[in-house]
Amino acid sequence: METATRKDDVIFRSKLPDIYIPKHLPLHSYCFENISKYRSKPCLINGGTGDVYTYEEVEALSRRAAAGLSRLGLRHGDTVMILLPNSPEFVFAFLGASYIGAVSTMANPYFTSAEVVKQAKASNAKLIITQACHAAKVSGYASDHGVRVMLVDSPPPEAAEAADYLNFSDLISGDENELKLPEVEISPDDVVALPYSSGTTGMPKGVMLTHKGLVTSVAQQVDGENPNLYIHSDDVMICVLPFFHIYSLNSILLCGLRAGAAILVMQKFEIVPFLELIQKYKVTIGPFVPPIVLAIVKSPVVDKYDLSSVRTVMSGAAPLGKELEEAVRIKFPNAKLGQGYGMTEAGPVLAMCLAFAREPYEIKSGACGTVVRNAEMKIVDTESGASLGRNQPGEICIRGDQIMKGYLNDPEATERTIDKQGWLHTGDIGFIDEDDELFIIDRLKEIIKYKGYQVAPAEIEALLLNHPNISDAAVVPMKDEQAGEVPVAFVVKSNGSTITEDEIKQFISKQVIFYKRINRVFFIDAIPKNPSGKILRKDLKAILAATTPSP
Ligand code: AMP
Repeated sequence: METATRKDDVIFRSKLPDIYIPKHLPLHSYCFENISKYRSKPCLINGGTGDVYTYEEVEALSRRAAAGLSRLGLRHGDTVMILLPNSPEFVFAFLGASYIGAVSTMANPYFTSAEVVKQAKASNAKLIITQACHAAKVSGYASDHGVRVMLVDSPPPEAAEAADYLNFSDLISGDENELKLPEVEISPDDVVALPYSSGTTGMPKGVMLTHKGLVTSVAQQVDGENPNLYIHSDDVMICVLPFFHIYSLNSILLCGLRAGAAILVMQKFEIVPFLELIQKYKVTIGPFVPPIVLAIVKSPVVDKYDLSSVRTVMSGAAPLGKELEEAVRIKFPNAKLGQGYGMTEAGPVLAMCLAFAREPYEIKSGACGTVVRNAEMKIVDTESGASLGRNQPGEICIRGDQIMKGYLNDPEATERTIDKQGWLHTGDIGFIDEDDELFIIDRLKEIIKYKGYQVAPAEIEALLLNHPNISDAAVVPMKDEQAGEVPVAFVVKSNGSTITEDEIKQFISKQVIFYKRINRVFFIDAIPKNPSGKILRKDLKAILAATTPSP
């Protein structure tokens, strides 16, 4: 559907009608609004242990977590850092924080100490919930800054003062008198989740997602007569994507809760346990990212398993090639396959394939969906800013209640990303065809996507510039069959320096999580820049294309 609302403005909307969205509800109330229909149904299944939590139990344990957080002194607006792999505790902590009007900032538990501390500091986290094996990364920072650390398992044996750590089991215990929730008034515009993303440029920033934003985004996907993503209460969704990324938190956990589905939680992707779980629990919905799709397609063991229960396979977070799309169709004979398109700042879902609707539409291969309901999309010329019509590529922009409130403590970056008319500029290049399908063809922005994980070039460049033998550096993506993209560096050595590629790689490896490591180093005389000093990344990508064969 296409409507011109302003002279020369072409606005694209969903083919599905708009729906009623209960934006006044806090996120937890919205997720559990229909719980009376499926109270005793499985809600969370721990794939590792086989433990099952019903909806009633998940709600009760989340309320207990809320009461516990409140007993610890956490208040409306305070931030809790969740530094956990996928686990039931992640869910109780996140929903518990929501109940008391607190904010959850989520981070990859495999981040290095420096990476975690940076986020803990920037988000002003008052409590960090993690596992014993990650506690040492935060303990120094926490004791210096009066931040409490809570473990979901036993304290590490080397911990001098085990008593310094709080315990998650204490948080969710307590007698009935202690379980009263504080009376808090939560406004729809209060922040509930604070994932970090570098957006279109610069360093990772705290993305403020509100109760209203997440309620809207989940509703756009699963509410109404003919939803974008049809999930029903008999569905079993496998959740191997990490909850600390908003794709998984929103489109699996929150959408699953709202729909009353069972969410089968895996801590990490390993092909055999993954296939076993699909077969054992008769999984019906598989939300994946392209590297998981690739692993399924390439694995020789897949054909030994019965995957016929799967009726929906969705892929998002990075582009899925047409060949991969075709190959995975064969592995899931009864499944509809399609893509979704998300960006953390957009809440995150912008578009979703309508093959997943209750009354499905035919979709084209390579498309990443059509814009979600109750939202507007436009495509703008990257030079002139003019709004473009169908089949004309330009920057994808989205407007609606689901997008972020802004970046935490960064009004300038917020203004650069959301314009005065409320349009969020994605930095992605794409076009919308005559059937309302969106195709992404390029990326204007800096970020590198390694297996769907973000790498912010600015972050790695800042580390490189700290090295005394490096006088200038720039980091750009290089195509890679397994990962999609990997970061590579162009480096200008300091005068007289004999620094080697290996030394540079090691220097970075020590400071960052595995997917931010530099794959190749290219020495260069000068980094190409425009007159105002901005790195000309396009030129570097062109040099790269000329020097490296495509995978
Ligand atoms: P993140 O904020 O980590 O979710 O990353 C968002 C970015 O991932 C988007 O702005 C796109 O560049 C990319 N992305 C997400 N989904 C897709 C998709 N289906 N196809 C191509 N790129 C995608």
